[in-house]
Amino acid sequence: MSGGFFLTVDFEEFAHDLKRDLGLWETGPLRVDALWSGYERIARFLARHGDAKATFFCTGIIAERAPDLVGRIAADGHEVACHYFFHDEMDRSSAEDVSRFAARAKEALEDAAGTEVLGFRAPKFRIERRDPAQYRAIARLFRYDSSWYGASPEEARAFLRRMGVDALALFPVFAAPPFRGAPPLRLGGSYLKLFPLGVAERWIARAEAAGQAPIVYVHPYELATEGDFLLDLAELAPLGAARAAYWWLRQNQWHRAGNGGFEAKLSALARAHGLRGRLRDHLDAAVTLG
Ligand SMILES: [Zn+2]
Repeated sequence: MSGGFFLTVDFEEFAHDLKRDLGLWETGPLRVDALWSGYERIARFLARHGDAKATFFCTGIIAERAPDLVGRIAADGHEVACHYFFHDEMDRSSAEDVSRFAARAKEALEDAAGTEVLGFRAPKFRIERRDPAQYRAIARLFRYDSSWYGASPEEARAFLRRMGVDALALFPVFAAPPFRGAPPLRLGGSYLKLFPLGVAERWIARAEAAGQAPIVYVHPYELATEGDFLLDLAELAPLGAARAAYWWLRQNQWHRAGNGGFEAKLSALARAHGLRGRLRDHLDAAVTLG
């Protein structure tokens, strides 16, 4: 057994967020029941694997609309961390908006969890990296970030220096191209769903060999099979028939294809390597400039 990996959950309400991405609404009701059952499935998975604890990067909107759920995650001993306020691509926003929305999310999460929130991960890993303003806003609010991905701690340290954020710790998600010229592959989400177990095994080994604590990320909808978070055709209809059909199919690919095997794969990884617990308890394993 290796040193284990950190299981992290990007805890977001997919149907709400897709409607926002598609311009169908700015915001609206959350599927709170689906979020509860998503959480309970993950909690059962963790209970079966040595009663392990995990880090939940939750959107602020969930904390505002379903504070009891965020309170439960914390009460069960897991870490509540921040996944921004809305599930927006931050690199399309100004640094001022990022600062405002991240602060609002942190406050809502802390109120609901009853504890300080230390960690941050940008939705879709999309935070501006060419200019340091957004990272500096995050560094003012949080102790660590897990939005950066790359292949070595040296790269991560060079990035911190470029951003000029001395006090921020990084928990990088290991990412490397599977072959020359390919886009980098991360250990989680759809990659984990679509690639065979052997690839995930190799990525954990490569992260460890590079001196980087392996992190695996999942979403509540990947452990589901019932399509709890799917938009139906009527909800998509305002997009026009062709786009509605396209997005209906895309969601079905994300939410159904490979979900059955997903939990089995994650379970095999957890049994082989062990789960390492909450990120906040392992800040000594983070990359820092100190
Ligand atoms: Zn997300």
